[in-house]
Amino acid sequence: MKVTKITETALRDAHQSLLATRMRTRDMVPIAEEIDKIGYFAIEAWGGATFDTGIRFLNEDPWERLRSLKEKITKTPIQMLIRGQNLVGYKHYSDDIVEKFVEKSYENGVDVFRVFDALNDVRNMQKVIQVAKAQGAHVQGTISYTTSPVHTTDDFVKLAKEFESLECDSVAIKDMAGLISPKNVYELVSRLKEETDLLVNLHCHCTSGFAPISYYAACEAGADILDTAISPLSWGTSQPPTESIVAALSGTEYDTKLDLKLLNHIKKYFEGIREKYASLLDPIAEKIDTDVLIYQLPGGMLSNLVSQLKEQNALDRYQDVLEEMPRVRKDMGYPPLVTPTSQIVGIQAVMNVLGGKRYKLVSNEVKEYMKGNYGKPPAPVDPKISKKIIGNEKPITHRPADDLKPQFEKYKKEGEKEGIIKKEEDIITFALYPPIAKKFLKGELEEEEFLSPKKVAMDEGEAAIPTEYLVEVDGDEFDVRIMPTGFMKIDEVGPGIHGSPVEGGLTSTMQGLVLKLKVNIGDKINKGDVVAVIEAMKMENDIQAEKNGVVKEIFIVEGDTVSAGDTLMVVN
Ligand code: MN
Repeated sequence: MKVTKITETALRDAHQSLLATRMRTRDMVPIAEEIDKIGYFAIEAWGGATFDTGIRFLNEDPWERLRSLKEKITKTPIQMLIRGQNLVGYKHYSDDIVEKFVEKSYENGVDVFRVFDALNDVRNMQKVIQVAKAQGAHVQGTISYTTSPVHTTDDFVKLAKEFESLECDSVAIKDMAGLISPKNVYELVSRLKEETDLLVNLHCHCTSGFAPISYYAACEAGADILDTAISPLSWGTSQPPTESIVAALSGTEYDTKLDLKLLNHIKKYFEGIREKYASLLDPIAEKIDTDVLIYQLPGGMLSNLVSQLKEQNALDRYQDVLEEMPRVRKDMGYPPLVTPTSQIVGIQAVMNVLGGKRYKLVSNEVKEYMKGNYGKPPAPVDPKISKKIIGNEKPITHRPADDLKPQFEKYKKEGEKEGIIKKEEDIITFALYPPIAKKFLKGELEEEEFLSPKKVAMDEGEAAIPTEYLVEVDGDEFDVRIMPTGFMKIDEVGPGIHGSPVEGGLTSTMQGLVLKLKVNIGDKINKGDVVAVIEAMKMENDIQAEKNGVVKEIFIVEGDTVSAGDTLMVVN
């Protein structure tokens, strides 16, 4: 009799989906040995957003997390989620970085590489697959599942066949938004089992509410592996609960043979963790939301969007943004919404709504996407929108990473010069996220505190800058609420919190991190020149000069956080 295998996601996807990826290594290690005893097919514990969060917020070295888990997890394979040529970042890295990253990941403890690409473009996955195979790892090619007028079961099966020809060991159906219906999963899994020799792994999020039914349908079609999360970290935008799936399949021909009593012990531990991180639990991420059937936002994206709209002080536009999202997706040729396309499409929708006019503000990522640098979109992009964004430039048709020069040595040299390289892995960390990694590797980052809801409100400036006033006019009192009405344009508004308007002041259009400063004092610049790049909502945005002139003063350095309206520099 066939045993259905289970991959536990508690240490990666579950807390990424429900707790903003904030679980600490010190909260994982004490339970790792117990998890190892269960008999899971794999424990997903690395990759995805965990790498970024570690060095951005937690002051934790992701490589050390992997090593400490590997010390405790000795029997069960450790799985990572890897975004193809994007690795654990949001853009393509050069082949030599990909090579080093995969080698070091394997060396430090990753046994199963689940490889995906947001556009299902196999050219973006082949390098990772090839290097991981060469290490001797289990390699899982991934179908980023989505529904659209252009996606068919045939396409997904064809992709799986390509994985097979690249010698992958298994195929995952990654249903990041919880969109796969029982009927569709039955058809897809049946065909994958008929037409390939790959093990088939189903990965669903519960967002729409029907994931457990789809799991059963997948079992009936012959699925080999199901992804689940221990119950305190399940449901909502996370995976179906491990114990429930184990119990439901028990005694059927799809029995998992896992021990519910052992699982209960792990469940108890994670109940404590859930309580500890309760303030991070987003009510939106936690509930079943059938809106996803219309808007297709993957697990984590909804709560991300909420926090990003809060950051831009525009939470009241949430519904408008949700409605703009499918339109942007259509314009862009129906990309599946998963990192980084979820972010790219999501933030473009935010910009289209907050900018007042569609595609008035465009992130660099959308420009790159239109140029073909993310790969081939599932359907052609809207030519009118493309023309608006990249003019008459012709998109590339070759593998995007072919255009990237080797970078490892460059980062090695630069990192050594900075004195931030203590081990080879540090070079990779540095190459993946230069400004953030620099701060982290220098030891300048402090661990983010666990935020109580009250503290969150304070941090977002609601308490710092009053937005509601009682105004008295001729004895009558009026409640007045002051709300932002959009992005501030350069020269239109003064330097925000930094004082009164400055003649020639160049202001930031949004709240974000100064990623690059491209000018020096005394530089002559022309209108339209890119003077700085601001990372807002994980997207890069060019700040362009509004007029010709000379840079007189600069108020920012790379790595600074700025608010919308802050003066960045003076150009006269
Ligand atoms: Mn997932």
